[in-house]
Amino acid sequence: MSSPAETLAEEASEWRTAQRQFDDAAELIGLEPDLREILREVQREFTCHFPVEMDDGDIQVFTGYRVQHSVHRGPAKGGIRFHPDVSLDEVKALAMWMTWKCAVVNIPYGGAKGGVIVDPRRLSRRELEHLTRRFASEISILIGPDRDIPAPDVNTDAQIMAWIMDTLSMHAGYSVTASVTGKPIEIGGSLGRVDATGRGVTICALAAMEHLGMKPHIAKVSVQGFGNVGSVSARLLEEAGCTIVAVSDEYGGLYNALGLPVRRLIEHRRVHGRLEGFPGAEPMASDGPLTVECDVLVPAAIGNQLTSGSAARVRARLVVEGANGPTTPEGDQVLQRNGVFLVPDILANAGGVTVSYFEWVQDLQSFFWSEHEVNQKLQTIMQRAFREVLKVAQERDLPMRMAAYCQAVRRVASATRDRGLYP
Ligand code: NAD
Repeated sequence: MSSPAETLAEEASEWRTAQRQFDDAAELIGLEPDLREILREVQREFTCHFPVEMDDGDIQVFTGYRVQHSVHRGPAKGGIRFHPDVSLDEVKALAMWMTWKCAVVNIPYGGAKGGVIVDPRRLSRRELEHLTRRFASEISILIGPDRDIPAPDVNTDAQIMAWIMDTLSMHAGYSVTASVTGKPIEIGGSLGRVDATGRGVTICALAAMEHLGMKPHIAKVSVQGFGNVGSVSARLLEEAGCTIVAVSDEYGGLYNALGLPVRRLIEHRRVHGRLEGFPGAEPMASDGPLTVECDVLVPAAIGNQLTSGSAARVRARLVVEGANGPTTPEGDQVLQRNGVFLVPDILANAGGVTVSYFEWVQDLQSFFWSEHEVNQKLQTIMQRAFREVLKVAQERDLPMRMAAYCQAVRRVASATRDRGLYP
């Protein structure tokens, strides 16, 4: 028998999860064998080892990846993360998920992802800029506005996107603003991008509540992770009338059955860098929000949080996945058995890439929209995607995750089939 650590390690292989989810969807839609072979692999995987001069004059060699899973529906799109645990397998899984995510919300992109094995907290600002610019140069043979458009991901932000865009522009000899999204507003970023993922999570949560006959003003919501996605989701769900009863970050969590004031929590985190120490709430563990008494759970921290063990203790009736891959396949089965309605990551957190798409469109046209316009268009796309996935789920009696996969794989397969095989 395997130990709990081995079970978690086995459950936690993202690439294994991604391929397994694809295989299940391919089987359900009766996808022809050739297309299964093509789509269950990534199209391109690029590894580079590149030197960076550190502040003390030493040269350090870093390893980075850029993977494109599919470009059948349009240029590849996906974030770049800087993290010590980045691996090629993880980047491949994330690239495949990006393909499905863009197809679920029906925006004209394929999927990509990139990463560098590094702990950016150990770098000075100068070292971070040099690492970013050199990595951008390495992957410049793959990326560009018509080919593959990076965006921020774990530990990368608007500043890093600005350095990447500037590096590509220096190579080109003119400003190529549409080469990267998630940029600062002054250099072609889009209004509404910062809130976009949390806003999309909220739109999906409200649509699912309506479907389940749950009233927002009596719904108790628990949120794991209080970064960009978690804090925006909590704020917008509170604005929609919900009571936020639990939140957490990597240092710990907070609980109050009567509700936590989200804007004050955001201010507390801004000042202290963490949620810990906020008055008028019971402290709890970082994973506490997963299993508290609530109606809606938003896992918005990191992957592999709802495993076979923790999923069995989930008390929410609705789970809306803000994070990428927060539920292992085994955790998924447990939630399904327990009748939990789950809005999967490739639908629930697609608001970010949708507004990235808006940013790219605005950059290509050099014509910028108001925040209201961005939010309206986002709402239209997210609500339509939710309705389409729900329809597949109801027609085929499938859980929402598999319905979303079927919808996405069918769209990508159809584009691949229509384009035909080259040569
Ligand atoms: P972030 O870095 O802004 O926030 C992450 C939050 O999770 C932080 O509050 C951190 O303290 C907390 N956290 C980390 N480990 C934790 C743990 N073990 N338990 C509890 N909390 C923990 O990141 P983000 O941009 O909000 O992204 C969160 C998730 O959403 C990631 O999985 C990311 O891939 C996914 N996502 C983000 C976007 C986006 O636009 N930001 C889009 C799609 C998906």
